[in-house]
Amino acid sequence: MIRFDAVSKNYPNGTTAVDALSLELAEGGLTVLVGPSGCGKTTTLRMVNRMVEPSAGTVSLRGQDIREVAAPELRRGIGYVIQHAGLFPHRTILDNVATVPLLLGWGKKKARSRAAELLELVGLPATMAKRYPYQLSGGQQQRVGVARALGADPPVLLMDEPFSAVDPIVRGELQAEFLRLQKELHKTIVFVTHDIDEAIKLGDHIAVFRTGGKLAQFDTPERLLAHPADDFVADFVGQDRGIRRLSFVQASGLPLREGPVLPVTAPVADARSLGEPWVLAVDAARRPLGWAATADLPPGGTLADATLAPLGHTFALVGDSARAALDAALLSPSRLAVGVDADGAVAGVADAYELSAAIAGASARAGASAGTAASADASAPAEPAAPIDTTKSAAPAAPAELADPAAPATSAGTSEAPDAAEGPDLGKAPEAGRPPGAAETSEGRLVKSDADGETSADDSAGPESDGTLDSADGVAGTDGPGDAGGAGSTGGDGR
Ligand code: ADP
Repeated sequence: MIRFDAVSKNYPNGTTAVDALSLELAEGGLTVLVGPSGCGKTTTLRMVNRMVEPSAGTVSLRGQDIREVAAPELRRGIGYVIQHAGLFPHRTILDNVATVPLLLGWGKKKARSRAAELLELVGLPATMAKRYPYQLSGGQQQRVGVARALGADPPVLLMDEPFSAVDPIVRGELQAEFLRLQKELHKTIVFVTHDIDEAIKLGDHIAVFRTGGKLAQFDTPERLLAHPADDFVADFVGQDRGIRRLSFVQASGLPLREGPVLPVTAPVADARSLGEPWVLAVDAARRPLGWAATADLPPGGTLADATLAPLGHTFALVGDSARAALDAALLSPSRLAVGVDADGAVAGVADAYELSAAIAGASARAGASAGTAASADASAPAEPAAPIDTTKSAAPAAPAELADPAAPATSAGTSEAPDAAEGPDLGKAPEAGRPPGAAETSEGRLVKSDADGETSADDSAGPESDGTLDSADGVAGTDGPGDAGGAGSTGGDGR
């Protein structure tokens, strides 16, 4: 869909912002460009909509060299979202979102009705439509920024650190919401961030850049964590990459065993006869109630008479990852993680050792699954790939609610806007002991659980100069934010 062929960007001051970049981004996929500050991420992003022109090489979109397309036309198919949203301060939220449809001559009524749909799509209540940007929180403004970029249903979205300016909790909410949206919309997204956690959470593929504008690795998040190409990538990904890999392994494939589980109505003597240090008491529906320490059991009666230690937390076989399972083991007083089924009934238990062995098997399968990775690691096992959740990279047609047969295939591109703008294998493992072969028996399926540039001559064809925005409401050229990275600066070199 988007292809970089030996693309470099050199500035007259001798800076090589991007160095011989070759990369192919899949249609309908979310590719994250990540790396330390100044490594060329934004420059790479901006070469996609011709806000920055390459010094060498070719950028193509659906097979066409983008130099063959006039920048304004190109940008109509490319939405652009920046940090701080870059909204027009004196326009209502509705009118901010209606910007691009208005630019495209949809007419006020249709443009506003489209804007209202988009606000709903990004999870903002209709009551916000008449407010002004300053009356919204940072997170809400960022949602508006996304809604605006989606204005005319562009196939491509460029997002430059869009969630970096909000606090971690709101950022987490925005990321989750954005993933939900992408599952629905299947846009081809290029997303810049310096935050590797965000990259891993959001990306179908991740391009890690190193200083000097060099691509260090292009891979799936799983592969990046399992097989960093070199020390730089390993360092950048962080020391807890082993733990983070577990987010990609479904709990449903983990080998659980029956474990010391008894109904709370069972006699204390039965619990003692199991010969285990801890016994899990369950209700009539096998829902876990708590752990009883065998050493502290009362002399007689039932488990109901025992003091139960809290569970910590359980993990769901469907929906949770191996990371949640391992965490459950670490927090459990018995050191046993309790897996529950969809009804919350205990399906089995496993300790951290058993989990990690199973996880190792799943990760090996993950290592064999990097068919599209540019930097596929030769050390990757040659096993068949474990199924990976590809829901985010499928590319069906745009949803009906965004389709407008009467509208051109255009974009809410803020570059045109002034501001840039399973059941488990229960009982397979021995009751006691930690099977070294657990990795081989694991089903371990992979999942993904749990926002200055130089401008081209055509940059002058941005909203300030192509006259279209002015003709929409006459205010465009002057109210962009002072963000040199925003579309407000598409008409000039922000650096
Ligand atoms: P990132 O987005 O990874 O932080 P950028 O793509 O913004 O990095 O910048 C890459 C390098 O190019 C940096 O060293 C930056 O200073 C330099 N650079 C960017 N724009 C210009 C410019 N217009 N003139 C000179 N150097 C620039």
